[in-house]
Amino acid sequence: MRTRAAVLWPGQSTWSTEEITLDPPASGEVLVRLVATGLCHSDHHLLAGGYPGMRLPMVGGHEGAGVVEAVGPGVRGVRPGDHVVLSVPVPPCGACAACLGALPHLCERGALTGTGFQISDGTARHHARGGDLGVFVFLGTFAEHTVVHETSCVVVDRAIPLEIACTMACAGTTGWGAVLNTAEVRPGDLVVVVGVGGIGANAIQAAQFAGARAIVAVDPVPFKRAVAARLGAVAAAPSLADALSVVRDMTEGRMANHVIMAAAVGDGRQLESALALVGKRGRVVVVNVHSADENVATVSLRNLQSLEKQVVGCLAGSWDGRRGIGFLADLYLRGRYDLDLVVTRHYDGLDALPQGYRDQADGAVVRGVIRLSDGS
Ligand SMILES: [Zn+2]
Ligand SMILES: [Zn+2]
Repeated sequence: MRTRAAVLWPGQSTWSTEEITLDPPASGEVLVRLVATGLCHSDHHLLAGGYPGMRLPMVGGHEGAGVVEAVGPGVRGVRPGDHVVLSVPVPPCGACAACLGALPHLCERGALTGTGFQISDGTARHHARGGDLGVFVFLGTFAEHTVVHETSCVVVDRAIPLEIACTMACAGTTGWGAVLNTAEVRPGDLVVVVGVGGIGANAIQAAQFAGARAIVAVDPVPFKRAVAARLGAVAAAPSLADALSVVRDMTEGRMANHVIMAAAVGDGRQLESALALVGKRGRVVVVNVHSADENVATVSLRNLQSLEKQVVGCLAGSWDGRRGIGFLADLYLRGRYDLDLVVTRHYDGLDALPQGYRDQADGAVVRGVIRLSDGS
């Protein structure tokens, strides 16, 4: 079939929205009509050359929700008509050492992400200009239709609007998982969330849910600090340096239990300041991506050792994305998860991609979402 998608071609630094050819789903695969895609910063990172290992050309986008249109042979978990949110970061195999060790988000299949081809047989379903197209994070949600593996699909209740549910896939599972699984926030903890974008706005809600006694938001943009306050942050600061005195005053110098680093792109020079914000046995969770060539960060190793401070990495919330989406869908239906404060702006159609990312760079949105088709 023919459909439209936003493709990144080698040597280019803009999305090319064009007609592409899509093969029918092969064994274990699913054809999805996308209803909406979130604008995660990682796609912009791809555009900016931040993932040098990716094979181009590639269809962008990895925060998608839509309706199943057709299934390939052997698919049992989803049916045409199902509403699905597409999970990240990898369709786990269920059999490798990571999967068997309850770390499916770190599945060995992740090593194949750079090819962008189908996980089932390593070939492409997406084609344009006479060649094969990869898809970002095995999904390619900057498209009106895509073909993904059955394992990437999470069926959700029709009562959940797909045009906001799409953000559960990356921002939601990552932000909530960083707090619940990686930081392991406990009741009474003080949590600092650095960066109030899609991940940060979710991390604040997760910290509330986990029983944090106070949440401090750090963001240079006043609008985002205001959103953080509406989500439950009791204090805010424009920078890590400014947050230092705020947290010190709130804790009589004992400092925070957790700092969640959720900026658009991480900056290693901020790690020392982040570590200064946590107290004894405090944990800094690095959930934002960093440049592939950033290898140096200066920290006080004496403090790290003598106060038992911790720096921990977090990929996609340190849990199975399918479990994360199911958890959040349930919370939403119970009225305990505010997605309207996360998705602050909608756009129509793939041609709005540049505008969406301009707004993100300007700090005008928490999470932007592009509508791609009717949600019913
Ligand atoms: Zn993402
Ligand atoms: Zn695996």
